[in-house]
Amino acid sequence: GCAAPVAVALDGADLPPGAGLPRGFGLPDDSFAHDGQITRRAIRAMTLAALGPRGSEMLWDIGGGSGSVSVEWCLNGGHAVTIEPRADRIANIAANIEAFGLAGRMRAIHGTAPEALAGLPPPDAIFIGGGASATLIDALPPARLAVNAVTLETEALLIALHAARGGSLTRIALEEAAPLGRMRGWTPARSVTQWSWP
Ligand code: SAH
Repeated sequence: GCAAPVAVALDGADLPPGAGLPRGFGLPDDSFAHDGQITRRAIRAMTLAALGPRGSEMLWDIGGGSGSVSVEWCLNGGHAVTIEPRADRIANIAANIEAFGLAGRMRAIHGTAPEALAGLPPPDAIFIGGGASATLIDALPPARLAVNAVTLETEALLIALHAARGGSLTRIALEEAAPLGRMRGWTPARSVTQWSWP
């Protein structure tokens, strides 16, 4: 790997005490089966904080990807349906449901929003991580909302929604240390604009 000036390797033998999954949000990305399309750990933690799971509430996770947001919602006591149109990603979501022992709390729905939302159990909170559009937002039942955008088009939609409905508009710029030649450098992720309501 990278010849960092200070190398800290935490392998099984060196881990500090603490068994099982940690409480709170932001498990490492590689805790999940994913194909690179995953809401990064720090952004996932902010997303879950905005969604605010309480008790056994129901989440609709639209554009589920790996299902990581639903998994963390369910680990905090909730139930989730994870809507995703790509079959390869539905397979990752199913693998994550199994690996985290969430069968019965979390369900993968193979389909596209808004069509796939018909007949689902009513949500307390809705996260849109992919497929956001004015049509989709208008079709949603009343619930707490968080929407993440990486494109200008979706960001423009969120800016307009913030003006019309209030809530919070946040731009998250994230950089992580990664190998840069024989040294390390800050490697930026695509910035995420997040609108949450209320
Ligand atoms: N939050 C996810 C990453 C989401 S990536 C995670 O942590 O893993 C966005 C996803 O939205 C993609 O997998 C894409 O297939 C899906 N998507 C795009 N349009 C959609 C739509 N209209 N309905 C449902 N999912 C959609």
